[in-house]
Amino acid sequence: MGLNIALDGPSGAGKSTIAKLAAKKLGFVYVDTGALYRSIAFNALRNGVDLSDETAVAESLKGLELQLKYVDGAQAVLVNGEDVSGSIRTPEVSMGASAVAKLPSVREFLLETQRNIAAQNDIIMDGRDIGTVVLPNAQVKLFLTASAEERANRRFKELQEKGDPSTYDEVLADINQRDYNDTHREIAPLKQAEDAVLLDSTNLTIDEVVDEIVKAADKARSDGNNSNDDGSSEGGVSDNGTVKKKSERKRRDMMELRPISKTKKINPIRQFFYGILRGITIFILKLKYDLHYEGLENVPRDGGNIFASNHRSYADPYLIAMGVRVPISYMAKEELFHQNIFFTALIKFLGAFPVTRGAGDLGVIDTSVDKLESGRNLVIFPEGTRSKDGTVGKGKTGVALVAAVAMTKVVPVGINFEGEKLKARKHVVVRFGEPIDVKELGINGTSAGDLKIVKKKIMEGITSLVY
Ligand code: C5P
Repeated sequence: MGLNIALDGPSGAGKSTIAKLAAKKLGFVYVDTGALYRSIAFNALRNGVDLSDETAVAESLKGLELQLKYVDGAQAVLVNGEDVSGSIRTPEVSMGASAVAKLPSVREFLLETQRNIAAQNDIIMDGRDIGTVVLPNAQVKLFLTASAEERANRRFKELQEKGDPSTYDEVLADINQRDYNDTHREIAPLKQAEDAVLLDSTNLTIDEVVDEIVKAADKARSDGNNSNDDGSSEGGVSDNGTVKKKSERKRRDMMELRPISKTKKINPIRQFFYGILRGITIFILKLKYDLHYEGLENVPRDGGNIFASNHRSYADPYLIAMGVRVPISYMAKEELFHQNIFFTALIKFLGAFPVTRGAGDLGVIDTSVDKLESGRNLVIFPEGTRSKDGTVGKGKTGVALVAAVAMTKVVPVGINFEGEKLKARKHVVVRFGEPIDVKELGINGTSAGDLKIVKKKIMEGITSLVY
């Protein structure tokens, strides 16, 4: 059961020195996430990849294996089995890390890794977006900063000791550039989480900061916030792989049921245009893929239903939507809404709504139920991420929570094609299973036990439709 401490702040604020000492005092694992970004930059630079070429960097992640190992409490990072802990500390790799850190493919690649480590251990994790994105439910959140000059001074001394020839002005310019990159990138920019405590190390000694952290951890422990059991069957790891606070779990257990009325219909004009668009899209999809639908008789003719599917490709929401007469809504990662205005307008028109924290977030549950109530159907991928090989992974609790709160029908869906990628001319079979009526499952709320029953039924339904 993990207690998570998120420590964010700009480059050179002293996060790693402080986190290491605090981890030692507390008996926690220290996770330096900067080392992961550095390793990606190091690997790409070594292979001659242009770091401003997003496609090339994304390509360099394929088959890349990053591992964190702990030797006598110190973190070592391995790139494809090779210990690169020393080689990633050069100014060139620092700038490279800051460049690759703004790429969505890189951040996505590392998100799961970081969350998995946090779910399994008592940790203090340092970085830029730990309190805001990676572990939004960490029990302790701190934001450590210091003036740019003070940070440059410290880095300069460190580099001098290592015999690095950089001048103070160069180090300061690097720090300013990295601060700019980190605070101005679109995805997961460096910023203090609303509930983080601000620590300014310009005028505090290392020991004073460490003491603050130890005190905050002790308090979180005595408040009893150190369990990451959210009552779901994933051994306590919540939907987004982070740790739920008790208060949020309690709120979820008491979440008010909002059985949807199914009286609202989509505006007929909208439904008409949607019908035309759907016809055209089906035509295009069928030109592109060898696309087949099975079980269309199981698709309800009204709206307000949930379609719960396995997840194979970015086209999944549309493959499902084309088998359903009433428009759909589906959750899409916040990042997708910051690409370009045409793309954003298109996915919005096609029913996407943004989520930042996964389907377990209570705000997202409310929005989802609103969509159902408005007469739309809702497509959810309970596994959360795409499966490359087609095997159905563990479902998360979010889908069960929406279904239980809305008390509606869930249609299981299986998307099937051979191989990893959905390529042109592939034989694709979308199967709709018999709807599961949540009202008939004998549940009467959203307790962990209730959600387990709903989730099990849904996942069994999906699995039976995937070959
Ligand atoms: O902390 P460190 O200086 O080792 O991080 C290297 C770079 O990796 C940073 O400049 C930052 O751009 C990026 N980074 C990040 N998010 C994190 C950790 C590091 O963007 N959680």
